[in-house]
Amino acid sequence: MAFTLNMFPWVYSAQYNGESWDEHYIEQEHLSPKEESSLPESERIALQMRRNNFSQFPLVNYTTQYGMGCFEGLKAYPQKNGGLSLFRPEENALRMKRSMEGLMMPSMEPKKLSTALLEFMRRNISLGFSLDYDSTWEEDNYLTAGAIYIRPFSYSESGIGINLSRNPWIIAIATPVSAYFKPGNNAAVTTTMIRATPGGTGWIKCDANYVIPALAKNKAIDKGFMECIFLDAKKHQYIEEGSSCNFFALLKDGALVTPELGDTILPGITRKSVIQLAKDRGIKVEERPLTIKEVMENAQECFVTGTAAGITPLCSLTHKEKTTDFNCGKMGELTNSMLIELKEIQYGAREDVHGWMQQL
Ligand SMILES: *Cc1c(COP(=O)(O)O)cnc(C)c1O
Repeated sequence: MAFTLNMFPWVYSAQYNGESWDEHYIEQEHLSPKEESSLPESERIALQMRRNNFSQFPLVNYTTQYGMGCFEGLKAYPQKNGGLSLFRPEENALRMKRSMEGLMMPSMEPKKLSTALLEFMRRNISLGFSLDYDSTWEEDNYLTAGAIYIRPFSYSESGIGINLSRNPWIIAIATPVSAYFKPGNNAAVTTTMIRATPGGTGWIKCDANYVIPALAKNKAIDKGFMECIFLDAKKHQYIEEGSSCNFFALLKDGALVTPELGDTILPGITRKSVIQLAKDRGIKVEERPLTIKEVMENAQECFVTGTAAGITPLCSLTHKEKTTDFNCGKMGELTNSMLIELKEIQYGAREDVHGWMQQL
C-alpha cells in the first residue's frame, strides 16, 4: 500500500491534565517543500526520520507496552475548484471519543478535536505542505488520485504495570498518500484467524486490534491474495470484515448486504456513507448477518470500504480451497459507479448533497 510516512511539519498534541486538555501545536524541523524535494534522497529521508522524533513523549508507557491506545484515520482531498476539504471529520472525532471511552480513558469533545484537526492542517498548508489538485486524476475517475492522510491517535503517560491511561495525549499527524489498493484484480481469501471476539474490543479502533489482521493479511499476500476476510469467532460462518475495511456484497436479487454492527465490527465511516449513497439510489440495503456460504453462492459483486481503501472491488473470494469469481477482469457495475460517486464527492467534482465535506 501507499502509506509512506512523510510527515508534515505541524503536529497537534493535547494532554489531559486531570481536568482539561493542554493543547499544543508543535512545529517540527523543516525546509520549504520545494527545498525538501530537491534534497538528495538520503538527506530527505534523514529529515523525515527526524520529523518523527519527539523528546516530549515517554517511551515506556501503556501504549507502547500493552497496546492501550486508539487511533483514527481521515483524509483531506484536493478539490476540483481549489483548496482542500476533509471528509466527515466530525464523524472521526466522535468515533475517537467513543474509542477513548471504550478504553476507559478521558475523552475529548468531538468539536474540540475536529477544530484542532482543521487548525493543524491549516498551519501545514500555510507552510506549503499540501497537495494540489491534478486534473489528470479525472481520466481514471480518481482511482490513482492522491490525498493527505490525517492520523489522530492516543498515547499514554509513563507507566510500566498493566493499567489504564488516565492522562493520555491525543496527537495528530498528517502525511500525503496515494491510492491504497491498486486497481485491478483484487482477490480475497478467508482466514481462520479471529480478529474480534464477542465481548471484546472489535468495535473500537484500538491499537490492540491490528496485530491479528497484520498477520492474517500477510499470510494472504504470501499466498498471492490481496486481502483476507475474517469470519465470526463462534461459528466461523458469518463474514465480518477485511483486515481493516468493512465488507459489502451485492446479491443476485439486487440487495446490497453488509454485516450489521455489533461488538465485533468496526463502525466504518465509509461504510455508513456507502449505505447512505446506496439508499439514495433506491437500492435495498440490508445490515444483517451474512454467511460466507451466501456470498460464495449468491453474490454478484463484492467490495470492501475504508478511508484508506475507499471502495475497493474484490474480484474473487476463496474459502476452504473453493473460489468464486465475481468480476475478474472488469469491475462490477454497482461497485464501479459507487466508487466513482464517492470519489467525485470527495474531490469536489460532484454536489455534496449530504454536507460531508469540510473545507480547510
Ligand atoms: C478503520 C477501519 C475500518 C474503516 O473505517 P472508515 O471509517 O471507513 O475508515 C473498517 N474496519 C476496521 C477494522 C478499521 O480499523
